[in-house]
Amino acid sequence: MARKKLIAGNWKMNCLLENGTALAKAVAEKVKAQKYNCDFLICPPFTLLGAVKKCLRGSKIALGAQDVHFAEFGAHTGDISPLMLTDIGCKYVIIGHSERRTDHGESNSLVKKKAIAAHQAGLITVICIGETGAERDASKTIEVCQNEISRSVPENATAQNTVIAYEPIWAIGTGKTPTAQDVQEVHAAIRSALAKKLGKAVADRMRILYGGSVKPNNAAELLTLPDVDGALIGGASLKADDFVAIAANALK
Ligand code: PEP
Repeated sequence: MARKKLIAGNWKMNCLLENGTALAKAVAEKVKAQKYNCDFLICPPFTLLGAVKKCLRGSKIALGAQDVHFAEFGAHTGDISPLMLTDIGCKYVIIGHSERRTDHGESNSLVKKKAIAAHQAGLITVICIGETGAERDASKTIEVCQNEISRSVPENATAQNTVIAYEPIWAIGTGKTPTAQDVQEVHAAIRSALAKKLGKAVADRMRILYGGSVKPNNAAELLTLPDVDGALIGGASLKADDFVAIAANALK
């Protein structure tokens, strides 16, 4: 089953107007300069969505946010709704990143509620799952991922409106990655869990990204695995050369 790869950058809580727009412009220029057979996505902080959108105009790079509330409008101080994201030009939204699950206590049921609201607004969700180091040491990786797929992903999710990102928490920002064999094994198990929940036809088409210390030098090994359909990239997405080199290394 051919699935177009997605190379996604999660800027997290980084960049101000000046360096954020410079970064977005640099990525857009580099992506335009080459023919890449993949989709690109940049997810800056909320404050930069409008400015980055302008920098991406005319490029094939989509804009995404890093979180969303489930309500349309109302008394939710500090939150941003799905409609606000589409209004400013977002196509995607990351939901359930481990930093939100940890820092803000976001549960699987909240992640699912947000995903349902985001889909209703026409957004594509990137739903993040992954085990802690302790869960990995206890050989619970697949069990944790199956549980998160079962509880975080809406029952009517489709391959068009949902992307899964497998991000082992112990690999995020640490420079450590699972072996390629482990990544493939977990991705295959995630696809089986998706098939059980959504049917094989949907699961076969749904993109499953790997995230956690993806760099230009490990991209080829990780992103050419049969069930890996792209990458969610944190640290390396803050350097235009590295971000684009990941796509170039993986897709040549
Ligand atoms: C992330 O937080 O989504 C991530 C994958 O970060 P990094 O690439 O820095 O490990």
